Amino acid sequence: MEKSRGIYDLSREDIANALAGEPKYRQDQIWHSIYSTSLGIEGASTLPKALRLKLSEDPQFKTQLEEIERRQTDRGRTIKFLYAARDGSKIESVLMHYKSRSTLCVSSQAGCAMKCVFCATGQMGFKRHLSAGEIVEQVMAAKIECQNTFKDSISSSKTGRLSNIVFMGMGEPLANYDKLIKAIDKINNSVGIGIRHITVSTVGIVPGIIKLADEEVGVKLAISLHGADDKTRSHLVPISRRYGLDSLIEACHYYISKTKRRISFEWAMMSGINDSIDQAEKLANIAFSLGAHVNLIPLNPTPGYLVVGSSRDRIEDFANYLESNGVATTIRNTRGNDIAAACGQLAATNLEVGKTKVELAKK
Ligand code: SF4
Repeated sequence: MEKSRGIYDLSREDIANALAGEPKYRQDQIWHSIYSTSLGIEGASTLPKALRLKLSEDPQFKTQLEEIERRQTDRGRTIKFLYAARDGSKIESVLMHYKSRSTLCVSSQAGCAMKCVFCATGQMGFKRHLSAGEIVEQVMAAKIECQNTFKDSISSSKTGRLSNIVFMGMGEPLANYDKLIKAIDKINNSVGIGIRHITVSTVGIVPGIIKLADEEVGVKLAISLHGADDKTRSHLVPISRRYGLDSLIEACHYYISKTKRRISFEWAMMSGINDSIDQAEKLANIAFSLGAHVNLIPLNPTPGYLVVGSSRDRIEDFANYLESNGVATTIRNTRGNDIAAACGQLAATNLEVGKTKVELAKK
């Protein structure tokens, strides 16, 4: 048994084993309770109090994350949560409420080994993989947050319902493949989020993309591309030195042919780095050949990378170029710059690993 596992790591079989001697329907009561109305076992009001108390003292029935900070912006429509895991690792998730849905951006690792230069999490370095339970717990916490926030309106409309999950928080999900797959299974089958509403974002771990396609997981795939040639990509996304652009594009074609699903490219717009028309032309060729959608994201500034985001005019020129070359393009709203909502920023602030621009400039 994994020593550190928690309640959202448990399978139905684990619960059955822990409840030996209890009527079988208790298993369903627990399962239903922990995936619908409450976080953990304490709110399982259908259980006899003595059993609830007994289970709540068992470490494997405890939750694993403690919320240590939350920041809100956009009049409460964007909330960033900072959690401490049992070993003290800090992880983040960001909940974004839209008109008719809510989306949660989840973390799959504490820190990240990919070292993308513009990313606060990459600047922190890698601490460890998250367990499937730690991933699912972020989702359950957000689901309950939505239920509480919209309890008066949720029955009459879809407003506020947690409907979309994006693996775009801390970590590279395909580097934690087995836990990712277990978590997706629970998020889909137990929490109740449709598989087509779950997006896995990767910087381009080619074997992971192929495995995801072969296993027909069914999630949406987003590729954090950020550069349309190996030279630009290898500066921004060091792992691309191992998985070059040709092999990544080939893996994308494979994913599309196996799943019949459209993929998207994420592109953080960085002034003077990847926002030229030359890059737009190369990106248009790649995206058009794959029928991929492109999301342009104004760079969320991080303390460890001095480059600033592209101007609004530059982003619009870039988008217009893509559109006029047949590539569906969206300019993404950046939510929560004022609360350090880009991945890793709140944890970095909390850990005080971030350096100010002035400190870096002095080096
Ligand atoms: S952008 Fe994603 S993959 Fe790259 S360092 Fe940040 S968390 Fe890791």
